Amino acid sequence: MRVYNFSAGPAVLPEEVLKEAADEMLDYNGTGMSVMEMSHRSKAYDEIIKTAEQDIRDLMNIPDNYKVLFLQGGASQQFAAVPMNLMKNKKAAYIITGQWAKKAYQEAQIYGEAVAVASSADKTFSYIPDCSNLDIPEDADYVYICENNTIYGTKFKNLPDTKGHILVADVSSCFLSEPVDVTKYGVIYGGVQKNVGPAGVVIAIIREDLITDDVLPGTPTMLKWKTQADNDSLYNTPPCYGIYICGKVFKWIKKMGGLEAMKAHNEKKAKILYDFLDSSKLFKGTVAPEDRSLMNVPFVTGNEELDAKFVKEAKAAGFENLKGHRTVGGMRASIYNAMPIEGVEKLVAFMKKFEEENG
Ligand SMILES: *Cc1c(COP(=O)(O)O)cnc(C)c1O
Repeated sequence: MRVYNFSAGPAVLPEEVLKEAADEMLDYNGTGMSVMEMSHRSKAYDEIIKTAEQDIRDLMNIPDNYKVLFLQGGASQQFAAVPMNLMKNKKAAYIITGQWAKKAYQEAQIYGEAVAVASSADKTFSYIPDCSNLDIPEDADYVYICENNTIYGTKFKNLPDTKGHILVADVSSCFLSEPVDVTKYGVIYGGVQKNVGPAGVVIAIIREDLITDDVLPGTPTMLKWKTQADNDSLYNTPPCYGIYICGKVFKWIKKMGGLEAMKAHNEKKAKILYDFLDSSKLFKGTVAPEDRSLMNVPFVTGNEELDAKFVKEAKAAGFENLKGHRTVGGMRASIYNAMPIEGVEKLVAFMKKFEEENG
């Protein structure tokens, strides 16, 4: 039996995609082998990766002057790759909205001067700071954000005014959850294990003029975006199977109606949960309402023992991975694209029952 999996990542994938992959496990499309077993230089694989790229281009409306790279190393590897590839002046502005932004900021300090131009640390990252008039150093090479904060459940509803600087965004936990205007960014990247596919793949969408040989001295060949771009993500063996699953998820999103439809579906799901949290006498959301994420919904009862009891009883009832991040406690329901609406409806019904029994 499948559970309702509210994990923040690796996370729920569309059941249809998993079934298709299972059907093709022993014999992919008449090749007599699994995608796991085939050469990344084979004709069959070439078609898989090219189709995946075209499908994400269609979904996100990615202009021709942006490259789509399928990389490894997790989102965390890009915390280093971003400064290595972009820090020409050895200076960059970081907006600190949570642990992932902070880790990227700390990593950048290894390579140059990372300047924290805004932060929401004063209120445990429960809101997005005003980024309409930031004090960005003139010579900053880029402005960096973590667009959706997986741990704290906040999301940038408006992009910062970068004052003409390149915007770099980690979108790991909101990838393909709604339409985006790619042209507003220099770099969009994310680990796929939150909303798109299996861990091990990072997708980076990078404006072509930012992909150059002019990288910091000592940049490893593999971390130089140009190496990957010049070789269509096949410089070395890519995470073949993971890319294949991502490709299936892209097809699934297309079938569901694309990113507009995903957004409507995600808004509907999130509203069910937030409306309940706003009316509940026991459970409370922890995020400033205007900055709430559609993907990650943290909440608390205000009593740690009761939180633990809730997580335990929810698990027994088939609602998995509701425990909050180990550093913040409480609960968190991650309701990514593949979480069906019934999952959220049933969770809320369960929360109501728990509230009656424990209120
Ligand atoms: C999970 C996550 C990361 C880290 O991803 P890895 O692939 O484990 O390196 C980075 N940023 C955000 C926003 C995340 O949600």
